Amino acid sequence: MHIQVWQGDITSLEVDVIVNAANESLLGGGGVDGAIHRAAGPELLEYCRRLGGCPTGEARLTPGFNLLARFIVHTVGPVWQGGQHDEARLLAKCYRNALALAESVDAHSIAFPAISCGVYGYPAEHAAALAVKVLSEPRPTGSAVQSVLLVAYSEAMHQILEQAIATGG
Ligand code: ADP
Repeated sequence: MHIQVWQGDITSLEVDVIVNAANESLLGGGGVDGAIHRAAGPELLEYCRRLGGCPTGEARLTPGFNLLARFIVHTVGPVWQGGQHDEARLLAKCYRNALALAESVDAHSIAFPAISCGVYGYPAEHAAALAVKVLSEPRPTGSAVQSVLLVAYSEAMHQILEQAIATGG
């Protein structure tokens, strides 16, 4: 599995799966969630309404609708509360569950935003190191996923993610 950093708007990517950093309602929000709903179109919200939400750390699959991506995996990252509230375990669960859902549809490529690193306040260096570490773990039953893009929206996040890859998480 090849992990690379890419800087830009995740909604423009032509990959099998893009991951959304959603909230527990799955009914849309700001940041990357808002961008994904705008780009995918109103059918996404309609579909999400029927899913009945998603607890923190879990993930749900939807079609990509108007996106170039075939599927969207919506996962709910933890809100940073200082680091002693299970944040790292929950963020690791987001990456593992998202990857497992991508594998379930035989995805070859997947792109992740920096889950929890926006309004949820997770320190970017810690989140980047954790993402690289979890995504580098051997997969129990192998994986169809060959390409993982870690998407940075800002130049600062780009550098943090490159650094995390260089040091292996
Ligand atoms: P969270 O609530 O999980 O913190 P946010 O959407 O606030 O989610 O932020 C997660 C990360 O996604 C942040 O690093 C933010 O800069 C980034 N981001 C925001 N919009 C986009 C986009 N269109 N494409 C890729 N990343 C984005």
